[in-house]
Amino acid sequence: MSTTQSEGLVEVHGVHKSFGTLEVLSGVDLVVKPGEVTVVIGPSGSGKSTLLRVINHLEKVDRGFVAIDGDLIGYARKGDTLRELKEKDILRQRTRIGFVFQSFNLFPHLTALENVVEAPVSAQGRPRSEVEPEARALLARVGLADKADARPRQLSGGQQQRVAIARALATRPKVLLFDEPTSALDPELVGEVLDVIKDLARTGTTMIVVTHEIGFARELADTVVFIDAGRIVEQGPPAQVLDHPAHERTKAFLDKVL
Ligand code: ADP
Ligand code: MG
Repeated sequence: MSTTQSEGLVEVHGVHKSFGTLEVLSGVDLVVKPGEVTVVIGPSGSGKSTLLRVINHLEKVDRGFVAIDGDLIGYARKGDTLRELKEKDILRQRTRIGFVFQSFNLFPHLTALENVVEAPVSAQGRPRSEVEPEARALLARVGLADKADARPRQLSGGQQQRVAIARALATRPKVLLFDEPTSALDPELVGEVLDVIKDLARTGTTMIVVTHEIGFARELADTVVFIDAGRIVEQGPPAQVLDHPAHERTKAFLDKVL
């Protein structure tokens, strides 16, 4: 399981995951190179969220492994042996991965600024004096410099999701994972969130984005991955997977969403 020489910033190898008797991931392999945007598409229930959740160690794999920048998720290397990480160490490892959920998941009782400041201070142990100016700069980057003191309920869905993106960036992660980041938004708010994600893509942020926004995939993805029933059916550049899919199941899915 040597991963130190690998080309991928994110490497998923032979991952299987079941819930009870239901196998949700059936041998998934995925390599995401530094600076690349990978867009994952596929029907509801195909395992997209579970794939992101195993990358972030919110779910444990049954078989296979995930590595971020050569480090195995959930394990630490000690000499030649691997030891399972404890919960506290998992939290620290997780700060290397930013996660943006469909439902924003901001802390409702904290201001926008405090939502962004929280993880670097509490999980990474960085000094607040250093984190706070960075958090303000991140809020400015997502267009919310003037909302630092607002609480989530005072913000629109699009604004909340932009705070969530600033929060995900605050731990200086190596990769950002997005799970249908615009699905819970009113249509008129989708654009402002996609614009932020596009800005991150253009500045070289490594990202895995689960989305039904095919236009976004066509414009920004380096690789589009089509997943169905827990397996990657095909993957490649958008012009290939979206415009000339090789598999019937990909065609049938695209016919429905386009
Ligand atoms: P997608 O994101 O592609 O819609 P998911 O990864 O959320 O798919 O789910 C894939 C399958 O796994 C679905 O059948 C879902 O019901 C099931 N599933 C997901 N999480 C759990 C869980 N914690 N316990 C039991 N079943 C789950
Ligand atoms: Mg999902």
